[in-house]
Amino acid sequence: MSHAAPIPPDDSYLRSLIEATADAVANAEPLDSPHTGADEASRAAVRSTIDAAATDLVALSQDLHAHPEEGFAEHRSVRALADLLAKHGHEATVGLGGLDTALRAGTEGEGPHIAVLAEYDALPGLGHACGHNVICTAGAGGFLGAAAVADRLGGRVSLIGTPAEEGGGGKETLARAGIFDDVDAVVMLHPFSHDIAMHPFLGRRQLEMVFHGVGAHASAQPFMGRNALDAAVAAYQGVSALRQQLPDSDRVHGVFSDGGARPNVIPARAAVLFYLRSGSPATLRDLASRMTAIAHGAAEMTGCGVELHWDSQPAYLPIRFNTTLAGRWSVNQRGTGRKPLPPGVVPESLTGSTDLGNLSYRMPAIHPMIAVSDATTALHTKEFAAAAGSPTGDAAVLDGALGLALTVADYLGDAALRAAVHEEFEAAGGALDVPSFFD
Ligand SMILES: [Zn+2]
Ligand SMILES: [Zn+2]
Repeated sequence: MSHAAPIPPDDSYLRSLIEATADAVANAEPLDSPHTGADEASRAAVRSTIDAAATDLVALSQDLHAHPEEGFAEHRSVRALADLLAKHGHEATVGLGGLDTALRAGTEGEGPHIAVLAEYDALPGLGHACGHNVICTAGAGGFLGAAAVADRLGGRVSLIGTPAEEGGGGKETLARAGIFDDVDAVVMLHPFSHDIAMHPFLGRRQLEMVFHGVGAHASAQPFMGRNALDAAVAAYQGVSALRQQLPDSDRVHGVFSDGGARPNVIPARAAVLFYLRSGSPATLRDLASRMTAIAHGAAEMTGCGVELHWDSQPAYLPIRFNTTLAGRWSVNQRGTGRKPLPPGVVPESLTGSTDLGNLSYRMPAIHPMIAVSDATTALHTKEFAAAAGSPTGDAAVLDGALGLALTVADYLGDAALRAAVHEEFEAAGGALDVPSFFD
């Protein structure tokens, strides 16, 4: 017995996850830090600078939220950010590294150099459903606060606006253009349903398998055809069979991007577009090799040819944690009343991918999550968009700005902390040659 409507998914597993998470959240202890960070006078200067900019930061967050722009087209947004920076004494460069909507501002001087990152792209049809208006304005506030003390702490801070996180990989493009060559570490935050000091994000690659067959009349001369759609279906089924043997952190999802035109013509061309996600660069590379074998097997069994188009957008790496720096974030959120969770409390399967991962394998990085919504609201929904523009979103802008600015000040002002941050990065394998990693 079938009917037109789909069968609604049973939500008992989701509810069990949410209940288990609520218990774990209640019992979790935030990360601590053995380091002292910046001196108290610098911390006070950071606070007063952000207080003085608070009204403008919240207004900018609301303005961006009301005028969402998609990746690489964030012209109005980046201009509004530059205007806020100018009002607070920092001339920004708009357009760099080959990206019209990238931005950079910074302090002068010598010494260690840390960058705060700002994203400001939105999602088609959903507006700021990923809350990048909060990322941008918390980043701007974090920069302003840290810039007020960077010189006296003996270092430099920059704000780098990175376009098109939602698929376009602006950070990878900017990195390849050398924009991060003189940057020692990066910090940013992301709005979420919980406060979390470190939350895993998966690496992601794209693969389009394009199968080439031989077209033929499907009734009169099918024996003269080679069916590219059969190859694509075989590949899709091959991936389904692969899933059972994948690590739990791996995800593969695909859609048919070309399935032929008419039933009475054997399709000469068919294509499947897959996203591959995995928790480490090495496992993502292994997943890619399995997918390659499936594509060739499907081509072989159907007598078709195959082309593999990898990463029409830059591949995203997973986030490499820096616990030392994340510990300072956690400590620096104490005064706001937030208690950022350590990793492993909120289920790590509830995650996506970000191009911050690509920077986190080049230099120490943090990407803490800051709560703007209740625990059940997911990113990329209209409910999350509403939260990002609500008073809880505004609160996250200011609490987040303070957390970022104090963490930057700590990095610049505490040589022992800085050494530990970089020791941890080196112990995790040091800098990866990201552009050639998947070759
Ligand atoms: Zn997103
Ligand atoms: Zn996002």
